[in-house]
Amino acid sequence: MNMSVVGTGYVGLVAGACFADSGNHVTCVDCNLDKIDKLNMGDIPIYEPGLAEIVKRNTAAGRLKFTADLSAAVRSTRVLFIAVGTPPAADGSPDLSSILDVAKTIAQSMDGYRIVVMKSTVPVGTHLKVSEAIAGETDHPFDYVSNPEFLKEGAALDDFMKPDRVVIGATNPAVMEIMKELYNPFMRRSDRILMMDPASAEMTKYAANALLATKISFMNEIAGLCERLGADVECVRRGAGSDSRIGSAFLFPGVGYGGSCFPKDVGALVSMGDAVDHPMSIVDAVQRVNQRQRYTFAQRVIDHFGDHCANTTLAVWGLAFKARTDDVRESPAIAAIKMFTKNGMTVRAHDPEAMDNAKRELDATVTMCEDEYDMLKGADALVIFTDWPKFRTPDFQAIAERMPVKLIFDGRNMYDPQQLAKRGFQYFCVGRPSYPVV
Ligand code: NAD
Repeated sequence: MNMSVVGTGYVGLVAGACFADSGNHVTCVDCNLDKIDKLNMGDIPIYEPGLAEIVKRNTAAGRLKFTADLSAAVRSTRVLFIAVGTPPAADGSPDLSSILDVAKTIAQSMDGYRIVVMKSTVPVGTHLKVSEAIAGETDHPFDYVSNPEFLKEGAALDDFMKPDRVVIGATNPAVMEIMKELYNPFMRRSDRILMMDPASAEMTKYAANALLATKISFMNEIAGLCERLGADVECVRRGAGSDSRIGSAFLFPGVGYGGSCFPKDVGALVSMGDAVDHPMSIVDAVQRVNQRQRYTFAQRVIDHFGDHCANTTLAVWGLAFKARTDDVRESPAIAAIKMFTKNGMTVRAHDPEAMDNAKRELDATVTMCEDEYDMLKGADALVIFTDWPKFRTPDFQAIAERMPVKLIFDGRNMYDPQQLAKRGFQYFCVGRPSYPVV
């Protein structure tokens, strides 16, 4: 099939590359000329494991190309996926201006029937708004499909190629068949292509993300209570998560969720509820607990040094909002580092992939370090925000040799508190007891 994907970010580029890999001819479109130039030169503007290889393979095979010319893409392809960003506006509702710009250009460039597929996460009712925007600009017929994306950054290719389910919101049965045909190559592990109306498809995406965020905030709140009442949240997590009705995924306490999706989508659900006088009380609490969690972890570090913050040097491991991505949008690490520097602390930071993106968010006083051990020399504490695999099993001997005081704040609960005490570390994590250094 000939198709276009508009927006070459974490979703659009992955979707375009995967559709090309299953034999389609895909034109990826972006208004960011720098991105398009890079892609045309074979550079991948984002870090996503495996993406560079699949883009290279399909570009070489002539199935994947990149352009900034949306009108030309509309004229040459029948199925058009929209995967542009929907960042939060000041009131928490998603900003749909890029979506509506793209819809308008699509409509103005149409020279016959087209299928417009919404991959971006958009509020319930957007299918009507976008359909009206297109119909207002063209007399050519079109169908609209809501096809929300559920991939996770860091595992995006696997998620796209082996999805738990594909949600298709459409009204025309013929279009549903075309969408099935597109997704069938990815349905070896699951035959769950869920057909529904567009409004339900739009809502499904928000409900799924809000449920996942709820699990995280719930466990973070339990962790806080564990700390105050002397329980160990790791035991509690295993005990509660072993119940098959609950499940063990997304029950890990930590520094709070971040990224471009959960904070934005949870906020959007609250604003959708407010707009129709149906307050989303649980989801509202989820977002407040998350804010508190992020703040509390960073403040604990600041409180530890009290009046000495100005003479304190912190070594920070992890800047991305989670492992295996270079994405720092809404990253708890970035928010915390801003709190640290505001309190006069000196910060050195390391991340395997996210240092370039983090540099753009942080002031120049934060030093980016290539080596995660060298940066510990003379540091007063190691503070961990991201659970990259290499941080899970570090060389504790090398850490101990470099730090004048062996002190770790671990926002991801990666180590055993008793073991670390035995190794002579003062170790603070989330919802677990601290043991005296032996
Ligand atoms: P992104 O910011 O990484 O990429 C968006 C791309 O769209 C950018 O390259 C930008 O230049 C381009 N763009 C913006 N306006 C444009 C326009 N008018 N014309 C052409 N290109 C334009 O965003 P993303 O993370 O890929 O997310 C895209 C959508 O998918 C969002 O709605 C998001 O909520 C949703 N989503 C994201 C994820 C994720 O993990 N990132 C997962 C599921 C769903």
